[in-house]
Amino acid sequence: MNSGAGDDILRGTLAELTWPEVARAAREGAVLLWAFGVIEQHGPHLPTGTDVYLPSAWLRAVRRHLADLGVPALIVPPYYWGVNVVSAGFPASWSVRPAVMTELMADVFSGLASDGFRHVFCFSGHGDALHNRTVHAGVLIGRARYGIDATFVAEPDLVARLPLDPADPAVTVLPAPPPPAAAFPDLHAGRAETSMMLADRPGLVRPGHAGLPPVVLGPDEVARWRRGHRHARRITPDGHVGDPAAGDAAEGAAATEDAARRAAHAVAARLRRADR
Ligand SMILES: [Zn+2]
Repeated sequence: MNSGAGDDILRGTLAELTWPEVARAAREGAVLLWAFGVIEQHGPHLPTGTDVYLPSAWLRAVRRHLADLGVPALIVPPYYWGVNVVSAGFPASWSVRPAVMTELMADVFSGLASDGFRHVFCFSGHGDALHNRTVHAGVLIGRARYGIDATFVAEPDLVARLPLDPADPAVTVLPAPPPPAAAFPDLHAGRAETSMMLADRPGLVRPGHAGLPPVVLGPDEVARWRRGHRHARRITPDGHVGDPAAGDAAEGAAATEDAARRAAHAVAARLRRADR
């Protein structure tokens, strides 16, 4: 855990290494872990970089679990100019065109491939459907143009929602997570994200979170909320969906750790299949 503001998102990534260290890792067969976040409103209590901070913490834990499994890994600095549809009606929730994002991904894949890296595991920190389809599209381009074994690692419910083919080599499906702690949809800046931010960046969580009322949506409202823009802003003027006041640091730390363990096993299993 660290104190909060001022801790940079390059911590633990290959941006802290020298070029000979990166080159040696490639020669030794290190795999790459790359998070795709976004700058986006996260209610009145979480910072706009939440979807960058959280997958960064997740990947640092994934790397630790991979080391225990004998798989060397480096973390690519996180991507954070993503795509917002749901939050597009709020300030501080900008989007780039999907084609801009996939071409940027392609250029980075080109560089990684020419440095000798063979496997790139791409993770998302953001639930927006178009953002995640764009990550998958970028992965497909990297595979086709540069022959690099890039793959999009995603939770089973996201793979079903987009939908993506779980048998597609450009997709790696995580083992199912434990059932959610909340009894109603906890979709954005609610109990889960507030808990994980309290665990990883407590100094960035506004103390007012404990007094925020829950935003509880039924299935029809969730569908309308996912249409985004003014629809989402009308349904939840503060921006969150779920119960931030129920946020708990220990619960957040356990959730990150569980997701990291599942991801490390999915990565190791995929590498075993690739070696066959
Ligand atoms: Zn988020």
